[in-house]
Amino acid sequence: MNKEFVERLKKHFPDKKLVFGDGEKSTKILLIGEAPGEQEAKQGKPFVGKAGKNLDEFISILKLQRKDLYITNVVKFRPTKLSVKTGKPINRPPKKDEISSFKPYLIEEIETIKPKVIVTLGNTPLKALLGDKVNIGQCHGEIQTLDLNGIEFDLMPLYHPAAIIYNQSLKEIYANDLERLRTFLEENLI
Ligand code: URA
Repeated sequence: MNKEFVERLKKHFPDKKLVFGDGEKSTKILLIGEAPGEQEAKQGKPFVGKAGKNLDEFISILKLQRKDLYITNVVKFRPTKLSVKTGKPINRPPKKDEISSFKPYLIEEIETIKPKVIVTLGNTPLKALLGDKVNIGQCHGEIQTLDLNGIEFDLMPLYHPAAIIYNQSLKEIYANDLERLRTFLEENLI
């Protein structure tokens, strides 16, 4: 995103280490994750840790490369809590107020990039954009419509790549959803 956007976000969240979206701004495909993890906060880029490895695998199944896409997160800092065991910061899911304070910036990113398809990874970006009534379990792999001020975007909800790490039974479902996304891209973007 442009400098002015970055500066505005920094001003809004002055005490947070922010991880901004990354990639090709003229892309047709916008990927949206939940929030940065430890590695992302360290390296200042989205999806460079463990979940990023799974994401790379899925990008290659789509016969795409990262440089073809733009990747961002709903919440742009790493949400942490202190581990009871170690006393060190560990990841936690973003809170509702954190999500809503970042939502206008996410909408602005979508309206600037104007992708042909938005791919949400997990429930957080899905619910942030389509509301609390939708759930990844019910609509994964099915194209949804996102209306932003009268402009409609196709949105493909996918499970979060990290969900596959913790739940191997999702692997086949995920592969099916990716196949659907691949077909959609073939039919709509080329
Ligand atoms: N998980 C996310 O949702 N985003 C990242 O950038 C990394 C892990």
